[in-house]
Amino acid sequence: MALLITDECINCDVCEPECPNEAITQGDSIYVIDPNKCTECVGHYDTPQCVEVCPVDCIPHDPDHVESKDQLQVKYERLIAAKG
Ligand code: SF4
Ligand code: SF4
Repeated sequence: MALLITDECINCDVCEPECPNEAITQGDSIYVIDPNKCTECVGHYDTPQCVEVCPVDCIPHDPDHVESKDQLQVKYERLIAAKG
């Protein structure tokens, strides 16, 4: 399952550099997560790094992008392959 940043985001900029997949970017008003790049940190870390650092706890799971750990692992491997 990819994660999602809600409108409680205070644009503190802390999560963006922590993402190993460069899935977090500044959107129009708040930060956004690209569900095609978020692996819940599977492949890199044991826990989602953005959730660890977010001071307002505004990064829940995205119910529109439900994925198993195996699917997240496949996504991770695809991202690594694309990086070359
Ligand atoms: S869970 Fe990991 S991969 Fe997904 S947006 Fe957060 S830091 Fe990036
Ligand atoms: S850490 Fe949380 S509050 Fe800060 S920019 Fe990221 S999502 Fe927004």
